[in-house]
Amino acid sequence: MTTHVAFLGLGIMGYPMAGHLVKAGYQVTVYNRTARKAASWVQQFGGVSAATPRAAAAGADFIMACVGNDNDLCDVCLGKHGAFASMKEDAVFIDHTTASAEVARELYAIAKEQRLNFLDAPVSGGQPGAEKGALTIMVGGDQEAYLRAAPVMNAYARLVRRLGGSGAGQLTKMVNQICIAGLVQALAEGLHFARKAGLDAEAVIEVISKGASQSWQMENRYQTMLAGQYDHGFAVDWMRKDLGICIDEARRNGASLPVTALVDQFYSDVQTLGGSRWDTSSLLVRLEREG
Ligand code: NAP
Repeated sequence: MTTHVAFLGLGIMGYPMAGHLVKAGYQVTVYNRTARKAASWVQQFGGVSAATPRAAAAGADFIMACVGNDNDLCDVCLGKHGAFASMKEDAVFIDHTTASAEVARELYAIAKEQRLNFLDAPVSGGQPGAEKGALTIMVGGDQEAYLRAAPVMNAYARLVRRLGGSGAGQLTKMVNQICIAGLVQALAEGLHFARKAGLDAEAVIEVISKGASQSWQMENRYQTMLAGQYDHGFAVDWMRKDLGICIDEARRNGASLPVTALVDQFYSDVQTLGGSRWDTSSLLVRLEREG
């Protein structure tokens, strides 16, 4: 029997992720708020589109979502045309949105009451990871639902791992974003300093990336940062949303995040410079405008 999957949200990430499900042999129904995107997806991949999350989720064994933030997620789950109203008993809702651990736990509890399953499963790997089907997925929720869902998520992942109960996936994603924030600012400062010092910044990175300062951001972003290209998919607006989630959670658990809070302010400056949809490596622009 073919497994029926619904995918809600065909943005930069969701569009290719849903495509991988078709390629893996699943019967896929998609929903996108802007219907035009769903129509082009169907034309490209051949699945079916539905007019609402509720219609897409009806009869599906697994329902994936990759929308913007907590409010968007609540809309597609619980809104007037939300998926929870039509999900069949024991179906699994897999949320790939980067959202708060709090909303994950709330939706998990509501799902439980309705005899449904909810996994928080944020992703890392960006647009290239989604397109290549090589995302890292951090999962929170019940082990039984996770064991059923993991093979389906493998259609677009290179690593899927459950880190604990509901919320643990989102908390892990917060650690990921905290680790990235300071690192991108350090790379921007290094490039800025190299230029001010009159060095060939490209040659500098070619050398130091073979040593202890090497990082994914350094390897993948220095050339485009030096060229002033900031269209790599993960928008500054989304990063501010993510860092806000981290800072809120730290207020609750008592963690100290001074650098993360500072970098969040730097991204606010980038937004003021018109960079809301630039990618996160655009921190260099802010330094260069300062002089
Ligand atoms: P995006 O391109 O802006 O797409 C957002 C998607 O959510 C669109 O399909 C949008 O529909 C839909 N949506 C938003 N609000 C909605 C609502 N209230 N009801 C129904 N649909 C709604 O964003 P993205 O880059 O794919 O990111 C999606 C999520 O993944 C975010 O939480 C982001 O933080 C996370 N993420 C992104 C990356 C990345 O590199 N881009 C990496 C890791 C994680 P419309 O088409 O109608 O606008």
